[in-house]
Amino acid sequence: AMEMETNSNDYISSVIPGWFSEISPMWPGEAHSLKVEKILFQGKSDYQNVMVFQSSTYGKVLILDGVIQLTERDECAYQEMITHLPLCSIANPKKVLVIGGGDGGVLREVARHSSVEQIDMCEIDKMVVDVSKKFFPDVAVGYEDPRVTLHIGDGVAFLKAVPEGTYDAIIVDSSDPIGPAQELFEKPFFESVAKALRPGGVVSTQAESIWLHMNIIEDIVANCRQIFKGSVNYAWTTVPTYPSGMIGFMLCSTEGPPVDFKHPVNPIDADDKQSKSNPLKFYNSELHTAAFCLPSFAKKVIDSK
Ligand code: SAM
Repeated sequence: AMEMETNSNDYISSVIPGWFSEISPMWPGEAHSLKVEKILFQGKSDYQNVMVFQSSTYGKVLILDGVIQLTERDECAYQEMITHLPLCSIANPKKVLVIGGGDGGVLREVARHSSVEQIDMCEIDKMVVDVSKKFFPDVAVGYEDPRVTLHIGDGVAFLKAVPEGTYDAIIVDSSDPIGPAQELFEKPFFESVAKALRPGGVVSTQAESIWLHMNIIEDIVANCRQIFKGSVNYAWTTVPTYPSGMIGFMLCSTEGPPVDFKHPVNPIDADDKQSKSNPLKFYNSELHTAAFCLPSFAKKVIDSK
């Protein structure tokens, strides 16, 4: 059972009574707010504060250390894009690794691909898994797929132990680089990802916002260009409840059979195992290609690295 040590409402009504405001040093001077109908869970794990509340217009919301991780209303935009941008860019993905992703949403999306035979996940915080299964069953449904093996631990250590060339695809669904996910944005981790991928294997990582974190993105792109000798790309999607209303992804491939991320060779539209029960809400092949089109201010930085 989880220690449901309740802590003070650190993040509730810190600005507007009855509203959650996402105040963080990662986006100074701005804060997205959501009206809180009811706090459903507050706990403190070994790694972070975990909170769930019922919002009035975005369904239930998962918060880690005061930062919005997902809402029921718009999580599809993130989970579908971070998963299908890599998996639809290679033929027949079989072995997939998810780092982070404790809510289970990425697992739900990986499970749509019938070619996939093995889905490993390494999530550091069991409290996130348990809370997601309890409060977000339509997201945590991903854990029910028989191909899934869940490892509770640090993704940095997990990757170090993975034999060379094991995976076709690795998806790094991490929180932001303050807290337990900090090392998931650093060069040694990217090197261990490249080693764990087969030639022509692909990685997709949560890569912040071009409006807020161009400097972080610049460093990540520079590291990726040194490490991933196939191709290095940045794509983005719109998520209303993420800071600046959008979030991006690094899409890279290792040296080997070339990967053209911008033109899906393995369209999910056709082969989707869940198309009846839970059709795609956001991703489609046209949007896949469009996701790599960047505003000029971002293109200038990313293409120049
Ligand atoms: N979509 C969200 C976003 O873009 O910020 C991320 C969602 S998911 C909840 C992020 C997960 O990464 C959390 O469950 C967190 O516990 C996990 N995590 C953070 N650091 C980690 C690490 N070093 N190894 C494995 N999982 C980690």
